[in-house]
Amino acid sequence: MKINILGGGPSGLYFAYLARKRLGDIEINVHERNAPDATFGFGVVLAGAGLARLQAADGESSERLQAITKDLGNQEIILNGKPVSIEGRAYGGAVERLTLLNMLQDLCAEVGVNVTHHDEINDPRVVEDADLVIGADGANSTLRRTYKAEFGTHGSQLSNAFAWYGAERLHDRPTLSFRNAGGGAFCAHYYPYTDRMCTFVMECDRAAWDGCGFADMTDDERQAFVEDLYREDLQGQPLISNKSEWRNFQPVWNDNWSFGHRVLIGDAVRRAHFSIGSGTRIAMEDSIALVKALEERDDIEAVLAAYVAGRKPAADILIGAARESYTWYEEMGRHMAEAKSPHDFAFTYLTRTSRVDAARVAADYPEFTAACAAEREGVGQ
Ligand SMILES: Cc1cc2nc3c(=O)[nH]c(=O)nc-3n(C[C@H](O)[C@H](O)[C@H](O)COP(=O)(O)OP(=O)(O)OC[C@H]3O[C@@H](n4cnc5c(N)ncnc54)[C@H](O)[C@@H]3O)c2cc1C
Repeated sequence: MKINILGGGPSGLYFAYLARKRLGDIEINVHERNAPDATFGFGVVLAGAGLARLQAADGESSERLQAITKDLGNQEIILNGKPVSIEGRAYGGAVERLTLLNMLQDLCAEVGVNVTHHDEINDPRVVEDADLVIGADGANSTLRRTYKAEFGTHGSQLSNAFAWYGAERLHDRPTLSFRNAGGGAFCAHYYPYTDRMCTFVMECDRAAWDGCGFADMTDDERQAFVEDLYREDLQGQPLISNKSEWRNFQPVWNDNWSFGHRVLIGDAVRRAHFSIGSGTRIAMEDSIALVKALEERDDIEAVLAAYVAGRKPAADILIGAARESYTWYEEMGRHMAEAKSPHDFAFTYLTRTSRVDAARVAADYPEFTAACAAEREGVGQ
């Protein structure tokens, strides 16, 4: 069997490694446009449940992943400078994206996957002489765009804008810091991913974008603006840019995940919003499901039907949660204005998706729940 993969990101590399290891002597070619040491972004969060699934799928890669993952402490939510600690359920870990890619590249090399870098595929037909062609080429997937009608692709654009920065380590826990400026709302999502570095994703709503004059600023000027607005959070550190452009997140989804002997995985098939911190592990769980379907069947049509039937329901739940989450962020200014207190705001945030209700908050975060109750009764603050 021969499998050609567009894209050597987390989904493409993890699929290639697992498939070659499990299915034996098959030919797998990964075509990646970037250099092996190039990446966008800084560190990514890997939630605890996702890490457990990767462990169940393959012990060896999971052990290596754990060795490069930094455990994250309790979450903190800050409303205009007032912090609320969310003690309780462990948040999971974070890993530098480039270190993760290098680890997966090593695993692929060890099992005999052919990975070629500087190898951009602009016309998928040049790699279609295979039993299976996988589009693991991310949010702007060339395979998906080439067969847009066949995949039944849909997309939209959020009104909030965001930019992905890094910073020298500034806090030991995952933090969301919401601030009002220019008549609108900003949120900084930051968390450490090594002992030295933090990811710092900045987001603002349309009112803030307009009110702060972002439309007339360069990206450097926008960076300077948020460095000043967040100087307390940043403890005087500058933000670090990695071609960090302000953009509007574009959700993408497809009616059909496969077409003929072609299939989409990871961000190519649908994008989870960064606010649920799960895009990487959802992408890698697609890889696990596709390898499982290949292990159990020979006929590619049956493999792809089994992959979609087995994987789509679980993925749809997470994507539904991502949709609820970004909808909440699109209205974060209203949630900030309506909150009776920082604890009330934090509760609204924690229950922003239908996956988490008051009972789950009480079970996962008893101290926080007690503090909210005390505040409501007027005995604590
Ligand atoms: C601001 C921000 C913060 C995020 N934070 C988190 C987080 O905390 N936790 C988390 O789990 N996820 C996070 N994500 C999401 C995460 O980055 C993605 O979900 C994940 O990278 C998807 O993996 P993938 O392999 O499907 O795609 P990608 O990582 O996009 O990989 C696709 C690869 O294909 C290559 N490629 C593209 N086109 C071609 C072509 N034509 N030819 C050859 N190669 C090509 C690209 O160079 C790339 O290497 C975040 C995303 C953003 C934007």
